[in-house]
Amino acid sequence: MKKAVIIGAGLGGLASAIELAGRGWEVRVIEAAAEAGGKAGIAVVDGVEFDTGPSLLTLPEVLDGVLRAGGSSLGDELDLLPLNPAFRYIWPGGPTLDMYADPAETLASVRDALGMAAEAEFADFLAYSRRIWEAAASRFVYAEAPTVFGVLRMGMTGLAAVSKIDGVRTMEAAIRSRVRTPALRDVLARYATYNGSDARRAPATLNCIAHVELGLGGWGVRGGMYSVVRALERVARRGGVEFEYGRRVERVDVKGGHAVAVDGEPADVVVVNADVGAVTAGLLRVEPRPSLNVEPRSMSGWNAVVRARRAMRVGHTVLFPERPYLEEFADVFDRRRWPADPTVYVCAQERCHARGGWPEDEPLFLMVNAPAGAEVDGVEAVAMRRLVGAGLIAIEDAVVWRRTPRDLAERFPGSEGALYGAASNSMFSAFTRPANRGTVRGLYYASGSAHPGGGVPLCLQSGRQAAADILADFA
Ligand SMILES: Cc1cc2nc3c(=O)[nH]c(=O)nc-3n(C[C@H](O)[C@H](O)[C@H](O)COP(=O)(O)OP(=O)(O)OC[C@H]3O[C@@H](n4cnc5c(N)ncnc54)[C@H](O)[C@@H]3O)c2cc1C
Repeated sequence: MKKAVIIGAGLGGLASAIELAGRGWEVRVIEAAAEAGGKAGIAVVDGVEFDTGPSLLTLPEVLDGVLRAGGSSLGDELDLLPLNPAFRYIWPGGPTLDMYADPAETLASVRDALGMAAEAEFADFLAYSRRIWEAAASRFVYAEAPTVFGVLRMGMTGLAAVSKIDGVRTMEAAIRSRVRTPALRDVLARYATYNGSDARRAPATLNCIAHVELGLGGWGVRGGMYSVVRALERVARRGGVEFEYGRRVERVDVKGGHAVAVDGEPADVVVVNADVGAVTAGLLRVEPRPSLNVEPRSMSGWNAVVRARRAMRVGHTVLFPERPYLEEFADVFDRRRWPADPTVYVCAQERCHARGGWPEDEPLFLMVNAPAGAEVDGVEAVAMRRLVGAGLIAIEDAVVWRRTPRDLAERFPGSEGALYGAASNSMFSAFTRPANRGTVRGLYYASGSAHPGGGVPLCLQSGRQAAADILADFA
């Protein structure tokens, strides 16, 4: 029986483990933390558990595919919750815009909040966004890492593909050319943050995220996003995967250009779910050290949980700032400082995931984008003022849990606190992101810092693709 050792029990590691065990491999997962999940984590305060990572599930078919590889299914393991409304966008002194699970309802809401011209622009943009996704998904997401050479080899077909995915201009330029309504421009540019990128630099291909969320749908998960991690771990264990927690792997042993062991434990293949930055920084030793791209780092974030009096709230609320939204990208990526007047994201976890809270209070999860490795002085006071100002919390509601980009950097070594590996800040990013099959034979990468990138479904896909590469290499 072939043996795989997987370093890390984050989403990519869990997906690889299930896929390989399902194909008859012996699989051992070694995780530095005391539990699975990585960035899809939890914390407990006064007996109440809340999610500290992702809050929205998209592309559930990827999760279903992983669970099926382990002999189960999404329907058997989890209960997805549609949200209505799903997102509420609020501008200071400006409009409030709600988005729904049903695109038709969202369009009606855009018309009511922003007018008929905005509705037409939005409908046109969603159709454009769908076209990109349909052209990009099979080639750039559900496939091996693309190479420039591969695109060139396709000749005219390759060039046509690049044009279909709008891969040459920036997200922001495409939004500006299609949408005149300022509020909609903000909503659409914000999708760049879903993989921690800069809307002013990321290729317009990323405009497909609007379709992924609004066209294909975003869900809550009953019991919290951590139910996804629990389901994956459960299915992995059922498939015979062995887990070891609380041990940080120090090195991958390489002999004759082939990864042969992990801290001396023999393995036929090694899958690195840790950030590839841990390898490039020598924190997870691989000799000779592979060259893997980690720059520019994607966004990090300041996160907190407020214990707030229970009230009628929308699942996801975004409080946009007073100043132009694009200034936030300039702060994070050009000035390398946390946004002076930040956008604040709020997830009401009881509403989103039917999680339980305290007897009279519920946990509200907050996120403010920040540069990787940044100091975030004063952000908490600003975020709380914005929440009070928007009527989302009372002045006496308090932060009971918090995490800074520095904390993230410490918890995820080599990441510098970046949440999604390298940012997609150029038209070549899809080609420079580390492939799942490494240059050292027998060494594979499965995480948000490897192909196809960060976010729950893409990390799962990263794990699936790493497993597919392994199975192909050993066929
Ligand atoms: C606050 C926040 C909000 C987010 N919001 C969303 C969202 O709404 N929707 C969405 O789709 N995505 C979201 N994401 C992103 C998503 O959570 C991540 O992209 C994903 O969980 C990362 O998974 P991964 O496979 O890269 O593994 P990671 O989560 O990075 O886990 C890697 C694991 O490897 C372990 N490890 C590292 N080094 C070693 C070692 N040497 N030995 C042993 N173990 C090691 C670590 O302890 C860790 O558990 C969010 C993330 C955060 C933090």
